[in-house]
Amino acid sequence: AAEWERFRDWSAGSGRHNVRAGEALPLGVTSSFQHWDPWPITITSARGAHLTDVDGNRLLDLSMGFGAMLVGHLNPVVVDAVKHALDEIGTLFVTPSSQATDMAERFKTRFGLDMLRFTNSGTESLMYAIRSARAFTGRKAIIKIEGGYHGGYDPLQVSVKPGLDEIGPADNPTPATPFDVEAGTVHVVAYNDLGQLERVLSAHGTQIACLVVEPVIENLAIVLPDEGYLAGVRRLCDDHGVVLIFDEVKTGLTAGHGGASRRLGVKPDLVTLAKSIGGGLPLAAFGGKRDVMEVVVDGRMAHFGTYNGNALCMAAAEAVDELCTHEALAAAEQVNLGALEAIDTVIDEYELPAHTVGVGLKGCVTWSTSPVRNYRDYKATDFGVAELSWLWGVNRGILTPPGLDEQWLVSLAHTTTDMDQLVGDVRELAKALRG
Ligand code: PLP
Repeated sequence: AAEWERFRDWSAGSGRHNVRAGEALPLGVTSSFQHWDPWPITITSARGAHLTDVDGNRLLDLSMGFGAMLVGHLNPVVVDAVKHALDEIGTLFVTPSSQATDMAERFKTRFGLDMLRFTNSGTESLMYAIRSARAFTGRKAIIKIEGGYHGGYDPLQVSVKPGLDEIGPADNPTPATPFDVEAGTVHVVAYNDLGQLERVLSAHGTQIACLVVEPVIENLAIVLPDEGYLAGVRRLCDDHGVVLIFDEVKTGLTAGHGGASRRLGVKPDLVTLAKSIGGGLPLAAFGGKRDVMEVVVDGRMAHFGTYNGNALCMAAAEAVDELCTHEALAAAEQVNLGALEAIDTVIDEYELPAHTVGVGLKGCVTWSTSPVRNYRDYKATDFGVAELSWLWGVNRGILTPPGLDEQWLVSLAHTTTDMDQLVGDVRELAKALRG
C-alpha cells in the first residue's frame, strides 16, 4: 500500500493526463497493453536508454518499447537515415522501390529466408503467415501454444493467458474460443510437451495447416525450450506436412544476429518478425521457405498493404541492420549476462524464492524456485511479489515492462552502469523483503 501511495504521488501528472486521455481514447491509451492501474506513465520524450514523463521524472527504460527500441531511443544513425529519406527519397510510393528490395536482400541473408514480404505490425505478419500456410496446405486448422500471445488476429486470441479454471486438465487443454473462431479450428498444446503435440497431430494432422510457436516464449516472462524440444517440433511438423511458424516478433534481433531460430539451430518454414527490426518505426515481415512463399507468386494467396515497405521504415531498418553487427549484439549480451549473474548473487544471498532467466539481450526474474517450462508452471509463480518488484523499481526510476509477463531489454544504448542500477534496486528490494 505504501508503494502504491508513493507511485500516485510522483506520477500525479500522469494520472491527470490519463483522465483527459480517457475522454478521447478508450482507457486513455492507444493499445490495451499500455493501460495499467491506477494509470500508465505518460511519456513526453525519450533518448538513449531514458524516458522523461509529464511530471518531469527521468526513468531508466528497461522496457524499450517491448524490445522495439533495440538500438536505443533517437539513435543518431536511425534518425539520420529517416531524415535523409524525408529530405531526399520520399515517404510512400505504392510502386516498388529499390530500398525495399535492398532491405529484403539483407533480411534474407541475416535470417536465412528464401523470400519475405514486409508488413506494418506483428499482428499482420502472423495473420499472413497463417493464411500462407492455409493456402499452401489446403488445410484450415492451426495449433498454438497454451497461454501464448501472438497479436490480435482472431484465431490467435484463443488461449491467451487464460484463467486456470477455463482451460481443463493439463494433459488435454480445452481452448476457450473467443470472437470469430470456428470451433475445432484452433488446437492448443503445452509448450515443451512433445507427447501432447504428437497426440494432437495423430488425431487431427490431416486438417492442420500450421503450428505457431515463439521459439523462446517471451510473453510469459521468458520460458526457454527444453533441450531437443524445437528439433522435436520440427520433426513432428515434417511428419504431418504441417507448416512450422516461428513467431520471432519478440525474439528477433534481441535473441541474436539471426534471431532465435539461428541461435537455437532449428529452421522453421515461416518466420514472423517485427519490433526490433524497425528501430521504433512500424515495420514487420513474414517470410521463409520458397515453396511456401510461392503461394503469393502463384495467386493462391494475395498479400496487401498500402504502407508495406515504405521508404521511412526501410531507411530505419537499414540503419538498424548496420548497427546490429555480431560485435554490437555480443557486447550488449555481455552486459545482460553480467546483470543476470549479479542478480543471481543477490537471490542467493537473500535466499529469495526466485531465479533469473535470460536469452540474448533480454532477461527477467521469475518468482519461483522451480523452473518454468510452460504456461501452467508460469501461472504457479508468485505474481504478488512480481508486481511489488515492478512497482518498487518504477518508484525508484526504473521502468521495467509494466506487464508482469514481460522482460527487460539491454539495448545498444544501455551501459553496465545502467544495469548496475537495476541490480542495486533488486538488492534494496531483497533487503526490504527480508527485513
Ligand atoms: N507476436 C508476439 C510474440 C508478440 O509479442 C506480439 C506483440 O507483442 C505480436 C505478435 C503482435 O505484434 P504487434 O503488436 O506489432 O501487432
